[in-house]
Amino acid sequence: MALAAGPEKQTGKLVIRNIGLMLSGALEAPLLDADTIVAQGGRIVAVGRAADCDTGGATVTIDAQGCAAAPGLIDSHVHPVFGDWTPRQGQLGWIDSFLHGGVTTMISAGEVHLPGRPRDIVGLKALAVTAQRAYANFRPGGVKVLAGAPVIEQGMVESDFADLAAAGVSLLGEVGLGTVKAGEEAQTMVAWARKYGIQSTIHTGGPSVPGSGYIDAETVLAADADIIGHINGGHTALPLNQIRCLCEGCGRAIEIVHNGNELAGLSALRFARELDQLDRVILGTDSPAGSGVQPLGILRMVALLASLGDLPAEQAFCLATGNTARQRKLDCGLIEVGRAADVVLLDRAQHSAGTELLDSVNKGDLPGIGMVVIDGIVRCQRSRNTPPAERVPVIV
Ligand SMILES: [Zn+2]
Repeated sequence: MALAAGPEKQTGKLVIRNIGLMLSGALEAPLLDADTIVAQGGRIVAVGRAADCDTGGATVTIDAQGCAAAPGLIDSHVHPVFGDWTPRQGQLGWIDSFLHGGVTTMISAGEVHLPGRPRDIVGLKALAVTAQRAYANFRPGGVKVLAGAPVIEQGMVESDFADLAAAGVSLLGEVGLGTVKAGEEAQTMVAWARKYGIQSTIHTGGPSVPGSGYIDAETVLAADADIIGHINGGHTALPLNQIRCLCEGCGRAIEIVHNGNELAGLSALRFARELDQLDRVILGTDSPAGSGVQPLGILRMVALLASLGDLPAEQAFCLATGNTARQRKLDCGLIEVGRAADVVLLDRAQHSAGTELLDSVNKGDLPGIGMVVIDGIVRCQRSRNTPPAERVPVIV
């Protein structure tokens, strides 16, 4: 597939039929009794049994060959810079590689790896607006990158947040990566952001790389950001009793990342489940980072939580799709009429010990991806990155 792709619109009608297993992305009902998805204008217009869907007049028809369908995966925590380049590990094409890991939407937690990143207020605002615009106009591989996430610095005033919101900025980068680290200052700025419709994320745990900071549970609870960013650290995590405090002490989203502490991540999952609040748990990679760039990172999180976390695979997929969409108020993440037609077709990897897709994920294996659709447009066929899927969809 071409590396560069803009936000072009689907023309005509897409029908995906012969889907063997429909993963909805919705925790309350993770499996749907359906074998067909119809999309028009980039949106899902029908989901159901073939006989009950209007499949006539299709421009593109995909025979899923019995593969499973899931909503496109959402990476809740990435650090893009510009285009499909990351200076952190000197890589090109990393976002396109994530597409081959089933990721259709990424959310920036700050463009913090930009060499020479401006930290003065006018500069950080300009960067946020530029990043938001650039990724709105350019989708590497077709992946929707929601970026333009400024890192708050001391001296910002309420009108700065109003200006950012008016200019199209809807996210804050990780609170704590700038000079605003704690206390009333962080709480006030997070509240200003919220007032103007800007969603916030806070860094949690030890410094990830030199120059990053340490933020404990008390500070996270005081700042009251919308997302408890990488609750399992990046990689240095808070003690487990503090992670329990975060889960019990507020109702904010619990973000578990690939580039974090695995024991802490599994513990956060357990605490959320004990509270019967699995709907708060969302997944990210926190990449690019010192630990690298993981095209299969979200799939790896799904397999980790399903196998070692004893979370049924069909629910684990919800944490990577519908939960994130709901927590972040996105129009994707669910196989549901009206949502963006972002669909991953996948199957048990060849030679997995699992008997079928869900069993293989419950046993800790990664699925094989056979096709990824974003906004009703086929963006890649057999993944170049996952283990090969047993069955692969075909364009009829
Ligand atoms: Zn962080």
